[in-house]
Amino acid sequence: MENKLQSFMDSVRRKNPGEDEFLQAVQEVVETVWDFYMENPRYQKAKILERMTEPERVVMFRVPWVDDKGEVQVNRGYRVEFNSALGPYKGGLRFHPSVTLSGLKFLGFEQTFKNSLTSLPMGGGKGGSDFSPKGKSDNEIMRFCQAFMSELFRHIGPNTDVPAGDIGVGGREIGYLFGMYKKLKNEFTGVLTGKGREFGGSLIRPEATGFGAVYFVQEMLKQVNETLEGKTVAISGFGNVAWGATLKATELGAKVVTISGPDGYVYDPDGISGSKIDYMLELRASNQDIVEPYAQKYGVEFFKGKKPWEQKVDIAIPCAIQNELNEDDAKMLVENGCRLIAEASNMGCTAEAVSYAVKNTLFAPGKAVNAGGVAVSGLEMSQNSMRLGWSREEVDTRLHQIMKNIHATCVKYGKENNGKINYVKGANIGGFVKVAEAMLAQGVV
Ligand code: GLU
Repeated sequence: MENKLQSFMDSVRRKNPGEDEFLQAVQEVVETVWDFYMENPRYQKAKILERMTEPERVVMFRVPWVDDKGEVQVNRGYRVEFNSALGPYKGGLRFHPSVTLSGLKFLGFEQTFKNSLTSLPMGGGKGGSDFSPKGKSDNEIMRFCQAFMSELFRHIGPNTDVPAGDIGVGGREIGYLFGMYKKLKNEFTGVLTGKGREFGGSLIRPEATGFGAVYFVQEMLKQVNETLEGKTVAISGFGNVAWGATLKATELGAKVVTISGPDGYVYDPDGISGSKIDYMLELRASNQDIVEPYAQKYGVEFFKGKKPWEQKVDIAIPCAIQNELNEDDAKMLVENGCRLIAEASNMGCTAEAVSYAVKNTLFAPGKAVNAGGVAVSGLEMSQNSMRLGWSREEVDTRLHQIMKNIHATCVKYGKENNGKINYVKGANIGGFVKVAEAMLAQGVV
């Protein structure tokens, strides 16, 4: 069995040379679903894993635009349409200088399983550009979004592929992208999610990933008869995900003591609550990608160039970017008493950190923990189809229930003989089954 797995992974490696992040994501899924896969000859005969690890389509395009100095800039745009077994391709757009095809393939692959876990009818996709929003004016952001959409529009549609935000793409960018799509197609549709409330967006969408992550953590704690009340939490990042998670964790009685940016992290022993949480939105809107101003404004310590994982906390929720927490960080957290690590970023932990965390703490992977964002995107699609908008309570109740269901799926497929839940295995098998069954039912396409 081991040999078959090795030779399967060797063939994926040969087909995707140098695509480290994609291979990391595939390896984790394949290793955890392998026994299950081997017990199902139907899946093997239909080469389900071979097909699942190959995107259905990849679009790569030039994005030329003119900056405020009148100079022409050229970026690269992508859309990876990974898997449409469960519904239209669905997933965010990332604008960040680190964006590569490998990175987006890993994200599109993960998205397929994540979307399956939500139980909503969405396939998996991801896109973006190596464009860096840092230091750009509002006009430059708008021109870039328009240039990006002037190519992307021909590949997407409300029943084909529905992009949303991700790192570097928030409500403002979605608004500009939507405006251009509407102009080019001459139709008003639910083609993007994360839209402004006034033109078809859903309430709770900006907070959804962070809220969902904390609801999931709540379920993990409930499983071991604990609550969030009085727990200290280290959060990384300061974007939408970190903001929503800070808001909800604080509301549920926890104390969030860190946030971070590429410049370093701040440690606020009193907890980031009230107007300090609102200030996170101001930091993000500044387009500067730094958190040091928080330390200056509130007179707390700033740790330049460092990550928050060196602090003594009960819970760690990485909310920034892939591989932001390595094995040493995981060890440091656990040695300092941390009992739970939940990835709110996609593949926030390295493979070594995941192995260590699974053995030594309660650990849950991004595709389960951060599924609340895309879940509310799915609810936005439903509202757009019905041409109506639900109340905050309605959306929040549905989001909460979806996160509880995802947790129950992880328990169902991840329960070990000793009673401990392996959330990595549970999320991967739980996500895999639905996609595999749908692909079987739809034949070899
Ligand atoms: N970018 C988010 C994610 O990684 C949300 C995607 C969406 O709403 O389509 O799941």
